[in-house]
Amino acid sequence: MADDDHKPELVASNASDNIRTYKGITYDITDPKYQGLSKNALKKLLREEVWNATREKRNKFQKEKKKQKSAERRKLIEEGVIPAPPPKRARTVEPSSVRVVMDCSFTSYMHDTEIKSMQAQLVRCHSANRAGAHPMEITITSFDDALKNAFEKKTPTYTNWKNIEFTTESYMDKFDTSKLVYLSADSDNVVRELEDDKVYIIGGIVDKNRHKGLCQNKATDQGIQTAALPIGEYLHMASRKVLTVNHVYEIMIKWLETRDWEKAFLEVIPGRKLKDSKLLGDDASKASSDTGDKVEEAENNEGAPKKDEKEMGENAKKEAGDEE
Ligand code: SAH
Repeated sequence: MADDDHKPELVASNASDNIRTYKGITYDITDPKYQGLSKNALKKLLREEVWNATREKRNKFQKEKKKQKSAERRKLIEEGVIPAPPPKRARTVEPSSVRVVMDCSFTSYMHDTEIKSMQAQLVRCHSANRAGAHPMEITITSFDDALKNAFEKKTPTYTNWKNIEFTTESYMDKFDTSKLVYLSADSDNVVRELEDDKVYIIGGIVDKNRHKGLCQNKATDQGIQTAALPIGEYLHMASRKVLTVNHVYEIMIKWLETRDWEKAFLEVIPGRKLKDSKLLGDDASKASSDTGDKVEEAENNEGAPKKDEKEMGENAKKEAGDEE
């Protein structure tokens, strides 16, 4: 059908002079939302409304199509035309007793966009937790309105997430402080192993390192142990060794799986963050295939996990795309 057929009707169509039709929907031209719009802007808005109004129908159609396709596939398998897929191996999941705190007390240090990035990074952590063989219990502490709003906007289902607790309390009030280890790139101590009875704190901040030493100083003031990940012992970094929250978390999850820091770093740290793509005593061919875009992502932190995109709105999906 030519698009001309669907030009907003500028002449009265029926009962009221103000009621018009556009691609099957009727609208009242006196509605304030249509006021002052150019013809093009009106058309754009109407197109959006048509798109929203037909969503259910579209989804139903897609679902039917998918159903039909899998029925056809099943038939072909039964008839021996195509081979049956190999049975899926059940994934063994054994929860870890290592605990993690995300210290989210830093929203006043962040711009709005950084708070959004923080939210997206926490979604990534949740996703890594779900995919990992040894998920950890995560406690998001000092969860304030700024971050809460970002969650409600992007992933309102967060309240149902497994293995994550959101609390306004501080970790100081929730845990035995002798068990706390604040992870910080600035620490003189190095983590050798993640220990079962420890609670590792990750500073929930996205700041492109404007606030140098922030978490290290906070922990020292609170009399809490600190430790850095042993990156320098395995990799030459192109720049600073300060990683994003989700990368630190993903490295921990990988270590629990492999008990091998080098493997964990290589799988998680974007390739271009490794100096000349050189590893200590090895080559970089094993390095994460993440490209430059991901390095930017590590700095700017707009990424979000594909799995959880399902839980996000369409716009969120666009924003959280790999290209950032
Ligand atoms: N400007 C902040 C940077 C925070 S990076 C600061 O200097 O404190 C976000 C968090 O990731 C840190 O608080 C820390 O918990 C963790 N982190 C980043 N790189 C790390 C590293 N190399 N070793 C241990 N923890 C690290």
